Amino acid sequence: MIQLYIPLNFLGVLYREIKQSLADMEKLFTLLDQNKEIADKENAPVLQLHGHASPDVEFHQVNFSYEEKRQILFDVDFKIAAGTTTAVVGHSGSGKSTLSRLLFRFYDIQSGSIQIAGQNIMDINQHSLRQAIGIVPQDTVLFNDTIGYNIAYGQPGATHEEVVAVAKAAYIHDFIESLPDGYDTMVGERGLKLSGGEKQRVAIARTLLKNPVVMIFDEATSALDSKSEQMIQAQLKQIAKSRTSLVIAHRLSTIVDAQQILVMDKGRIIERGTHPELMAMAGAYSQMWERQQHHGDGSLSADDA
Ligand code: ATP
Repeated sequence: MIQLYIPLNFLGVLYREIKQSLADMEKLFTLLDQNKEIADKENAPVLQLHGHASPDVEFHQVNFSYEEKRQILFDVDFKIAAGTTTAVVGHSGSGKSTLSRLLFRFYDIQSGSIQIAGQNIMDINQHSLRQAIGIVPQDTVLFNDTIGYNIAYGQPGATHEEVVAVAKAAYIHDFIESLPDGYDTMVGERGLKLSGGEKQRVAIARTLLKNPVVMIFDEATSALDSKSEQMIQAQLKQIAKSRTSLVIAHRLSTIVDAQQILVMDKGRIIERGTHPELMAMAGAYSQMWERQQHHGDGSLSADDA
């Protein structure tokens, strides 16, 4: 009973905290800093960027399972060169989001290694790792607070000018100015409800304020209207510029310019290359692309994504 009680109690506390204050996946990860399974080694050094604006990210022969007996990733091996964008596509459940969870060290891998700027993420201080990585999640849950607070969240010292600057860069400033109370407008469950595209722009502004050297963009599964989609695309390019980026993509149209595209199937990378290279292979990617064209709106069906 006692053995059962401890983890259940921990989960209960965690669940309540998440329900009350979860802003996004990053917050969840921060809460899980308390997860003692993912512990810092004694005197773990902070991540060193050696003066580089953006670091290489490498997965070396990564094998991973959430639970014993069910392996999720098999010998996953790829490198995102500093300052470039790698996109991951594949059917639902193929392991795309798992890659981002592992890069953030939400879980430890069973074998292989994940390195940032040549440093194994299991050897460095977790806080410094998470400071280096910004996540734009699929669905951003907002705090019941002002929209200004929601953008500044995570960067307590941010000035109003800085918040406005990132809101402009995320193309949400004009919208905020049009609200009755501007940056002081209450949002969230008990305030103004924002659309999916607006929420994602808040998440982008928040990430810009954090100014991370590595970016993870988890594209929303549900299609946005085409104007929002185009805006998000423009912003994505802007924040990916000069940053090492991993894009979990559900719509192939959003990633044609990526320097590298990985196609995942059942936990393995089955194809890799640029969009033209993958099209020339006439394999899984080009089939997905053809199917997407038939949808007309550039989106994949849930089954295809
Ligand atoms: P989608 O496109 O639907 O988001 P995905 O390719 O991102 O899917 P993942 O979320 O990486 O897929 O999941 C890969 C596999 O791992 C799935 O089979 C899923 O059921 C399993 N999985 C994900 N999270 C957990 C977890 N916390 N515990 C156990 N299994 C999990």
